Amino acid sequence: MKYISTRGQSPALSFSEILLGGLAPDGGLYMPEAYPHFDDADLNAMRGMNYRDLAFTILSRLIDDIPASDLRTIVDKTYRAEVYAYARDEQSAEDITPTLKLEDNLYLLSLSNGPTLAFKDIAMQLLGNLFEYVLAKEGQETNILGATSGDTGSAAEYAMRGKKGVRVFMLSPHKKMSRFQTAQMFSLQDENIFNIAINGVFDDCQDIVKAVSNDLAFKAQSKIGAVNSINWARVVAQVVYYFKGYFAVTKTNAEQVSFSVPSGNFGNVCAGHVARMMGLPIKKLLVATNENDVLDEFFRTGIYRPRGSANTYHTSSPSMDISKASNFERFVFDLVGRNTEKVRQLWSKVDVGGAFDLNEEGYFDKVAGYGFISGSSNHANRMQTIRNTFDHYGVTIDTHTADGLKVALEHREADVPMLVLETALPAKFEEAIVEALGQNPERPASLHGLDALPQRFEVMEADIDSIKQYITQHIR
Ligand SMILES: *Cc1c(COP(=O)(O)O)cnc(C)c1O
Repeated sequence: MKYISTRGQSPALSFSEILLGGLAPDGGLYMPEAYPHFDDADLNAMRGMNYRDLAFTILSRLIDDIPASDLRTIVDKTYRAEVYAYARDEQSAEDITPTLKLEDNLYLLSLSNGPTLAFKDIAMQLLGNLFEYVLAKEGQETNILGATSGDTGSAAEYAMRGKKGVRVFMLSPHKKMSRFQTAQMFSLQDENIFNIAINGVFDDCQDIVKAVSNDLAFKAQSKIGAVNSINWARVVAQVVYYFKGYFAVTKTNAEQVSFSVPSGNFGNVCAGHVARMMGLPIKKLLVATNENDVLDEFFRTGIYRPRGSANTYHTSSPSMDISKASNFERFVFDLVGRNTEKVRQLWSKVDVGGAFDLNEEGYFDKVAGYGFISGSSNHANRMQTIRNTFDHYGVTIDTHTADGLKVALEHREADVPMLVLETALPAKFEEAIVEALGQNPERPASLHGLDALPQRFEVMEADIDSIKQYITQHIR
């Protein structure tokens, strides 16, 4: 299995070769040259599998340059019940991504029982173990530089802590993350984790990461790497839980299900698209956005019009406050029949702040054939959905999951099970829950003392050279 760029001007590479990188050299995203296919007999064999067996079965079709026994070890180490300790009960922890039935044909697919209480752990934990394995094999090391407004940074740090050959330098806006997120990240005492609180906003952090990555000499010399949302291995890891969720709520492969996915960078729902292309009987993939509705606009109109960071709203589902969906190019690549010249032409507009309209050559008519539909929600919808879910089912959901559920309820079809991807636990967003329900969400017992733990971080100015200097000093 080789991986090719959506822009068609980079050489095809193997999985391990693209694992540590980000964008392809031509600015595109890596995609498998062809999707592996699971037929009816395969699906029958997979139906009874536990998460680890399922993950191994799927990953081994997409990764052919890691020996099977090594891949098996990595998967078994990653998807252990102990790592998913915030699950309701032992069986749910063992299931890694358990389903919770709300009513007939309506379920939550719980993805947030990992160390940082958000779905990003599922992929990031695998990435941590894959990085350690590949780096050790090649006698290499990497220094991950990232910017976070909360969820990504903590998932990356909890996945990479203590990993040999990996250091993490994570920039976050000083005093702008939630109390919980700050405590979660800054309380890590591992020597390979460096928290840098920047005097500025999230965009300042991101600009520094971009500037440092664009300094190719520094990047090579300091072995700068990334774990951002376009990393193909993250998408692959997320494919697994679509299968797990499907098998959990169906009895035969003749049944179809739909998924509703709280979306920002299009990474999570892109994994759903890949699962569908691999033969999973998915009827609809609902792209649920918040007020930052660039993706909803596309799926309603065929026009993709990313907005600048100045036009990004700060909402109560902050991990979806994204106005340029970095994985969207992967879907468009398939939609235009993998015509790389077309992709280059479309993104030549996007890359300079423009928009494109896929009605023009009839491409938009094909979107429905891929199962995609969309919807959006706002703060009032979110609060109402959290209240209704609590009142009707006695279940507290977080704000992102509420966006997913709101859209799911608008697009439900009779007799088609709908799984709403639960992307964070409510404990992560206490203030919003208090606003909706007048009470704090339950916090897992082991996290009660989190705010009181000693914190380890460095406050720095938003200055590119001082960050470079800091990195240089800490990687010897
Ligand atoms: C990152 C995140 C999302 C958005 O996922 P994408 O893959 O960027 O679409 C949704 N909800 C939560 C809680 C997140 O952390």
